[in-house]
Amino acid sequence: MNVSTWYAAHFESRLRGRYLSLKHINPLLNSYGNRLEISYPGSSELGKKIPLIKIGQGPKIILAWSQMHGNESTTTKALFDLFRFIDQKDDFQEAIAHFLHTYTLYVLPILNPDGAERYTRENANGVDLNRDAVLQSQAESRVLRELFNEIQPHLCLNLHDQRTIYGLATGKPATISFLAPAADSKRTVTPAREVAMQKIVGLNAFLQPFISHQVGRYDDTFNANCVGDAFQQAGVPTILFEAGHFQNDYEREITRKFIFLAFSKLFGLHGASEIPSDTNQYFTIPENQIIFKDVIIRNVRFNNNANPLDIGIQFSEVLKNEQIDFMPYIDELGNLSNYRGHWEVDGEGCTVLVNSQQNTNVGQQVSIISNKTDDSVLFIPKI
Ligand SMILES: [Zn+2]
Repeated sequence: MNVSTWYAAHFESRLRGRYLSLKHINPLLNSYGNRLEISYPGSSELGKKIPLIKIGQGPKIILAWSQMHGNESTTTKALFDLFRFIDQKDDFQEAIAHFLHTYTLYVLPILNPDGAERYTRENANGVDLNRDAVLQSQAESRVLRELFNEIQPHLCLNLHDQRTIYGLATGKPATISFLAPAADSKRTVTPAREVAMQKIVGLNAFLQPFISHQVGRYDDTFNANCVGDAFQQAGVPTILFEAGHFQNDYEREITRKFIFLAFSKLFGLHGASEIPSDTNQYFTIPENQIIFKDVIIRNVRFNNNANPLDIGIQFSEVLKNEQIDFMPYIDELGNLSNYRGHWEVDGEGCTVLVNSQQNTNVGQQVSIISNKTDDSVLFIPKI
């Protein structure tokens, strides 16, 4: 058995989909009993206790935090998959024992529990915690910074989701993007940044057989307000993970597996880990580009418009009955030849109706797009 086949039968199936809050993870943490060391280093702005999990007793200290942006849950699911892997007693025992003696891993699985509950990027005060590294104005920011100061990590993992709009020059979606954040405005390759780059080079090489040409590199413009940049600036190697879109995987259940595999590789759980040495390879990882719409309907006409155009549709994520609805809306009308759709329809020759109307505008919600001539359906929401 390899780690990938283990995963298929043993991942944390109690966590599914995009909506993940303390309500979902606290029962799981309780179910581990004393097999996981859990503490609460502080509370959110609305007084929710922020859980911290500590695993291992090794000399290499790692600090990971997920859902700093409350609606970015994919990496949280992958962390709980990792906990299952570490906790089981059937397979990979040698690698796990090595991990536990090598590392002490501190995990804040939901740093922003108020945002997670409301499915917002920001915290309860509407603050983006990833722009609060200097001000430290929010309780959640201070929990993270005080922990960082206390445990003095050797490596930080800043765990996020990115939108479906990101793709690569390969024409494929950016299923995972990494960044070794800059430590200054000149983007100097500091010793800390170099460590992060080398680890990313290793992760990219490892992931290619799974998601060929779907690993990207995030923009490295320096911003001291961003936590990753601030920690890198403080001399601690920091890696940004951005879990992104895999074909048809809006629930991010497939991407989640690749994040888990990346974690397990990073922690040597696949056996001996080769150390990549060529930092320059980091810059060969393709940069993220905004090249995708969720849906593109091409070459259609509206009643009073003689020129064919393309309809770009995006899904907004709406929390409804404790689930995320993907609600389509018109994002752009015009020539979208520079974009790809995760789903594309060729409407050549069609005169279209949007919600049975002859006109539409950017921002309008879409329930159906049909061909006026024969009433055939070109698009209905299907996620
Ligand atoms: Zn984020």
